[in-house]
Amino acid sequence: MDATHSTAIDRFAVGGLRCVALLDGANHYDAGIFFPDVDPSAVERALAEHALAPDDIPSPYTCLLVETDGRRVLVDTGGGDMAPGVGRLRSSLAAAGVQPADIDTVILTHGHPDHIGGTLDATGAPAYPNARYVMARREWEFWTSASLPASVPEFFRDVAARNLPPLADRIELVDGEVEVAPGVLVLPTPGHTPGHVAVGVQSQGDELLYISDAFLHPIHLEHPDWHPIYDVDPATALRTKRMLCDRAAANHGLVAAYHFDPFPGLGHISPRGHGWAWEPI
Ligand SMILES: [Zn+2]
Repeated sequence: MDATHSTAIDRFAVGGLRCVALLDGANHYDAGIFFPDVDPSAVERALAEHALAPDDIPSPYTCLLVETDGRRVLVDTGGGDMAPGVGRLRSSLAAAGVQPADIDTVILTHGHPDHIGGTLDATGAPAYPNARYVMARREWEFWTSASLPASVPEFFRDVAARNLPPLADRIELVDGEVEVAPGVLVLPTPGHTPGHVAVGVQSQGDELLYISDAFLHPIHLEHPDWHPIYDVDPATALRTKRMLCDRAAANHGLVAAYHFDPFPGLGHISPRGHGWAWEPI
């Protein structure tokens, strides 16, 4: 595997396709967000095994660039101005030698602020001016609906209301599993949000799975029934987690985990106990 390391980008290959993990920045969360409704002593033990404090769980935001058939596909747009320490995606892209105008396709895996926050530029125009944007129809309809469930935080509503409508004339809404560029597939993985998708990158028999927020932390792999506060449908999320992990473990394919620390969040998944183990590369 060809790999070039820097603090902001990490180049790797999937079969014959060139990929770049792009750091948007890093945030921190606490155990109440990642592991609510779990016995606190069990959470404490799990965090201690990872040498983590309950109030300071590091969480990078790691987007993906795939070069395929002369096209450049960007997966997620980072957090934009949602928090200090994030919103660096475009400088990471520049470090990879790619300008916003070079992006052909932008896949938005779901409508949460840390994935769509960088969708517009400072003037409110699409940040990737020549790109078509792809999102699951169900996800788009959820976030652009006039009646979001009361459980959706105000901040999430505001970011979606600001970032999604300007894409209305260029968004491509997809249903089910769809190949959106040669070797790049959108995979329905609902549960975290109603229309959450993962992305499969396939070439020469290899498959990378970009799992987005199906898992927020390796501890969620070890304890798949410990749902973050943001999972809107935990039962569906659990089915999605099993499907993704079974698929990744069966082909021993590379997994790109948006929030796994440290950057670039690349690794493999193998069965362990009643869950799975994360093996970073
Ligand atoms: Zn996220």
